[in-house]
Amino acid sequence: MDWQQLYDRLYAVYGDCVCPLVHDSPFQLLAAVMLSAQCRDERVNQVTEKLFALAPDAPAMAALDVAQIAEIIKPCGLHGTKSKNLQGAAQMILDRFGGVVPQTMEELTQLPGIGRKSANVLLGNVFDIPGFPVDTHVKRLLNRLGAVKSDDPEKIERIVNKAVVPERWTNFSHLLIFHGRAVCHAGKPECDKCTLCDMCAFNKRKNK
Ligand code: SF4
Repeated sequence: MDWQQLYDRLYAVYGDCVCPLVHDSPFQLLAAVMLSAQCRDERVNQVTEKLFALAPDAPAMAALDVAQIAEIIKPCGLHGTKSKNLQGAAQMILDRFGGVVPQTMEELTQLPGIGRKSANVLLGNVFDIPGFPVDTHVKRLLNRLGAVKSDDPEKIERIVNKAVVPERWTNFSHLLIFHGRAVCHAGKPECDKCTLCDMCAFNKRKNK
């Protein structure tokens, strides 16, 4: 795979991407990322507007009842688990990290509800530390292109970490996600509109 060309072509379409989850602080992005599991960003932004009006930071979130959080975040789905994780993460940030969202993969993944993907979103989007989040769009696109042959997010992350310069990791992940949403849909990819069609293994197989 010509990774440089892949990046450049997507960059020509989407440019420097901004994280679609609305936030004013690392804690708010942490909360929004937790809520975004199996929920669209637009819905998350509607819910966080209400949630952050009541609890904009870790001390305020930790002070809320789990049931109260669950009621507010219900539209995002999985509200039982997400509300416990939100309150638990806020409490852990106070108890273990001095009230400050930590800035390392090792520490971030100690927080309930935060895995490598979410930690990489935090690192890249609020701490300016290179991170390559692998979500369902990233996985699908890179496999269809033939750039990777794996469903394992950690393996995909390692491959990209070697192939692409660190300064590009965060935007590269955004570019793939944006393209997955706009063109390379899970159900029916619109290959005839795709800027990557001549370098895509899936498209070549389809046209044989
Ligand atoms: S050519 Fe089709 S399958 Fe390949 S990346 Fe583009 S939309 Fe996806």
